[in-house]
Amino acid sequence: MSQDVLPSDPSNPSPSDGSPLVVGLDLGGTKMAAALVDVNGALQGPVASCPTPAHDGPIAMLDAVSSLVHKVAESGTHHDPGRAVPIAAVGIGTAGVVDVEHGTILSATDAITGWAGTRVATGVQERLAAAGLGTLPVHVENDVDAYAAGEAWLGAGTGAEVVLMVAVGTGVGGALVIEGATRRGAHHVAGEIGHVPVPGAQGEPCTCGRPGHLEGIAAGPQIHRRYLAKGGDPDVPDAREVERRAAAGDDIAQEVYRDSAACLGRALAGLVTVIDPDVVVVSGGLARAGDLWWEPLRQTFAAEVIDPLTPIRIVPATLGTTAPIVGAARGALALAGEHD
Ligand SMILES: [Zn+2]
Repeated sequence: MSQDVLPSDPSNPSPSDGSPLVVGLDLGGTKMAAALVDVNGALQGPVASCPTPAHDGPIAMLDAVSSLVHKVAESGTHHDPGRAVPIAAVGIGTAGVVDVEHGTILSATDAITGWAGTRVATGVQERLAAAGLGTLPVHVENDVDAYAAGEAWLGAGTGAEVVLMVAVGTGVGGALVIEGATRRGAHHVAGEIGHVPVPGAQGEPCTCGRPGHLEGIAAGPQIHRRYLAKGGDPDVPDAREVERRAAAGDDIAQEVYRDSAACLGRALAGLVTVIDPDVVVVSGGLARAGDLWWEPLRQTFAAEVIDPLTPIRIVPATLGTTAPIVGAARGALALAGEHD
């Protein structure tokens, strides 16, 4: 397996107080990335990554995850050769609906073959024990939940009591963090904003098979689909190019971009009325779009939300790719009794 290691942030100090470290791991459909994280959420070493063997089956997946965790744990001992760094726990953010209590995948898309039903916590724990790392607690949660936990802890949601997180990219996900704890709900799907029925999306097919949901109009692939359906240039290959065409003045591209943002703004106006968060944090590929997307989002939200809720800020996420690593690490710290 090829693994590449990114340089560590030189501003991060070395661990010196003897407090235990955990491994936070972000498991995506194409690659996985992991790092050592301390009790303050600071990365203590480089981010290591490797390709996800997404279609090789659950055993290959668990082997790859465990191998990356092992590599990162070892880098900790190399980091400070005079003193072995104790690893207190492992935190994993993964695609799919997760039963966090048991560390199992309840359901997942075809992005990872056979992932549904996989006992991730147990499988990783067994492999790490066999590799000589001892019996470590392994925390597993949905990747958007991990992202939200990271942003709520140390990113755009720092200091907020209630954070609503929305991720808009190849799909539309979300999570709800209250007083630092991710609320997963009675059926493990709390915060999943993508499948909220929203005016403006009527008749648009959603990935879940039901028409009229937010994801069916707001996600990147849906923006591309609608661009083509409305008579846009058939040579445009993806949503990113639709974005470029919109910026260059293409009417159809601008329309489908506006629709995506406006429907998100409308859905948020409804959701905040129920949740009343301090802040809404937006991540994902669309969050990196410019005013073309953010302006209709904020305008529609402002036009539809009730007056007492107009101070709610809608802001881009700030931690970038480390957010799910840090968030998963926070869950691991909680499991190890090192954090609330
Ligand atoms: Zn849906």
